[in-house]
Amino acid sequence: MILSELKLHNFRNYEDLSVDFSPGVNVLIGENAQGKTNLLEAVYVLALTRSHRTANDRELIKWQAHEAALTGRVEKQGGSVPLELIFSSKGKKAKVNHLEQARLSQYVGQLNVILFAPEDLYLVKGAPALRRHFMDQEFGQMSNKYLYNSGQFRTILKQRNQYLKQLQFKQQHDRVLLQVLSDQLAAYGAEIIVARAAFLKKLEKWAQTIHETVAQHKEELTFHYVTQVKLDEPSSVEAVYQQLLDLYLNNETKEIEQGSTQYGPQRDDLRFLINQKNVQTYGSQGQQRTTALSVKLAEIDLMREQTGEYPILLLDDVLSELDDARQTHLLTAIQNKVQTFLTTTSLSGIAQQLIQTPTIFNISHGT
Ligand code: ATP
Ligand code: MG
Repeated sequence: MILSELKLHNFRNYEDLSVDFSPGVNVLIGENAQGKTNLLEAVYVLALTRSHRTANDRELIKWQAHEAALTGRVEKQGGSVPLELIFSSKGKKAKVNHLEQARLSQYVGQLNVILFAPEDLYLVKGAPALRRHFMDQEFGQMSNKYLYNSGQFRTILKQRNQYLKQLQFKQQHDRVLLQVLSDQLAAYGAEIIVARAAFLKKLEKWAQTIHETVAQHKEELTFHYVTQVKLDEPSSVEAVYQQLLDLYLNNETKEIEQGSTQYGPQRDDLRFLINQKNVQTYGSQGQQRTTALSVKLAEIDLMREQTGEYPILLLDDVLSELDDARQTHLLTAIQNKVQTFLTTTSLSGIAQQLIQTPTIFNISHGT
């Protein structure tokens, strides 16, 4: 898919912007603090209705303004789709083909993006929350069902944690409501775990192929999905639901003492192994980066496999973080295949590596 047009009104430091993009490589070049990342963020927000930088939508609205509007046009096999998002103090509105969508989960998936920022190089090394976020964000774009289930799961998890706290402090005594919440949480949790396992299997296959070429020597990359339940092949939602429910029932007293939910997909992790050894603990800096790069690139292929379309790729300052060999690998993997937006403060080093002539946008003070 291709994002052919983007219009911004009062988004971050852009008052009014209207721009046509190239289907190939779009380079956003400018000094620091001019609006390069803001523009990438706008594309990301248009795809996912929320930012990768903040959970507070208010920050997206230009200072002193009350409403921000983003409109875009996505070209896909099925034709051209206009998208529109409006942020105001009343919340956000999302429109596809000029029709307002009742649920944001119905909107997400029209435009698929993969963002690669320097912090993604910590995918392997960083905290488990980072890898869970990675799974939710990627799989949520590929499947509305996944997105819906993880939204429901989060809501019920919050309620259940609040209720556990009330039981802990003896403001409540009734365990029947806790069991109702446990049942709902187990149901959504099981859906998430089974979906993650299935998506990870596919992602692993793509990442292995890429890793073989990037690593250039005999290294086999494998994934290990760390979850508290036992997964059979193929794993059934019913079986996982039962296991989660048992965990909740058998550990009621412990969870009340802790005042929070101890079991479920919010505790999952993902381990990357090279030749069967954990990259997080044993891998060199270079191996950790190569693994992160392989996983990010694998997402492109997985998304195409799942949706029938290549996503668009957003690279924020990432090239400067990669050595020459990895830069070349990244740029050759994407060219002629994926519409790309990349930010940089200088063109040197990039231009030579591009087969296609990039379209260059000079960004200065939000214009
Ligand atoms: P760098 O090269 O340092 O990464 P950049 O071009 O990517 O710079 P951006 O992150 O896009 O810079 O930010 C540009 C400016 O946008 C910042 O200086 C910030 O002050 C401004 N900005 C951020 N949010 C808002 C907002 N809601 N309203 C107006 N301006 C904002
Ligand atoms: Mg930036």
